Amino acid sequence: MVIGVALNFASEMSGLADPPKTPVLFLKPENTLTSHLAPVLHPDGVPAIQPGPSLAVVMARRARRVDRKVAFDFVKGYTLFNDFSLKETSFFRPPVRTKCFDSFGPLGPTVVSRSAIPDPHDVTLRCLVNGDVRQQGTTRDLVWRIPELIELITSFMTLEEDDAIAIGVPPGRVDVVAGDRVTVEADGFPGLTSHVVTEREYRDSRTMPPPGQRTFLALGLNYADHASELRFQAPEEPLLFLKAPGSVTGHNQVSCRPDGVEMMHYEGELVVVIGRTASKVKRSEAMDYVGGYTIANDYAVRDYLENYYRPNLRVKSRDGLTPLGPCIVEKEHVANPHALEIRTYVNGELRQQGNTRDMVFDIPFLLEYVTSFMTLRPFDMISTGTPKGLSNVVPGDEVEVEIEGLGRLSNRIVSEKDWRSLHE
Ligand code: CA
Repeated sequence: MVIGVALNFASEMSGLADPPKTPVLFLKPENTLTSHLAPVLHPDGVPAIQPGPSLAVVMARRARRVDRKVAFDFVKGYTLFNDFSLKETSFFRPPVRTKCFDSFGPLGPTVVSRSAIPDPHDVTLRCLVNGDVRQQGTTRDLVWRIPELIELITSFMTLEEDDAIAIGVPPGRVDVVAGDRVTVEADGFPGLTSHVVTEREYRDSRTMPPPGQRTFLALGLNYADHASELRFQAPEEPLLFLKAPGSVTGHNQVSCRPDGVEMMHYEGELVVVIGRTASKVKRSEAMDYVGGYTIANDYAVRDYLENYYRPNLRVKSRDGLTPLGPCIVEKEHVANPHALEIRTYVNGELRQQGNTRDMVFDIPFLLEYVTSFMTLRPFDMISTGTPKGLSNVVPGDEVEVEIEGLGRLSNRIVSEKDWRSLHE
């Protein structure tokens, strides 16, 4: 897993009217990750793409609730990362569609050991296009430094060995197009080179990545009644975000409410499970790529939400925060996924009720949209959003989400203390 940090250079932050209060974290999912000398896709119909040179911190072992004072003990070393992106018109979220095209995350070529880099906060990053330096910056200018990032991220999610944190891209992104050769360099590191290619060349050249972690996408504000409940307009384009693999838990498990927060709520949702590798799928054929359906409870800790930079990983990718199940029901057994009642109960009391017919963007639309830029593989999932009816839950609450024909997904909320006694 690679976690990115947006807006982590002081010169860029100082130009913002409403700078983020906490690091803006995002995920680069499996379909984006590729290696040194591999092709990087310049999608058809897009004028240019932009490289994003970053230093990436590679974890040595499992890291959970790490104090910043000992953070470097958990670091194996460093490597280079290139956070390719479409040109961003705003830093809102940041949007999955700009960052998650297939091949948009070259990493490597090797991990340089921690001892070989005397000061990771004094590394000059350079991005070369066809041999000319076009963008550079130094990690001296980081807003959030490595120990702070590790402390913050591991306060809510577990990092495993070889997970990487791409700590930030210096300002001044440049445009590149098919035919360009892009190299990220830093003193003490072997360079990371990518060949930017057309859609056709990419299709002819690529080999599928080995099966890795499941990619789990979710939708914000996909029910108009829920959007109005939060005083938002229903969106014109799907508001997608990614969830870390460790945020998923099973049926009849527990999820943790952090101490001292004001508002944590459930979100009962229909989840589409991909059945076949899907790339550039047309809406009319989209349902052929569905393998089945299940239920998610996409809990959110609202205290951690910053509306403009939402939803940050701290809100939605916490360890064990997303119950999934109780099982995957094959699509043959679900006559119409767009006519299913969703009900959420807390301690047996009905709190949330809706119907999948009220989705703003239906399943074929979502599959066409997502696969226009990301390849989805079997068992990747899309959680399709929640209807109206949110309310606070506290330790001890039994929360059940029921979807017609898919069963009932049960979960109990526990305190931080109880969570730790179960998990550490
Ligand atoms: Ca949700």
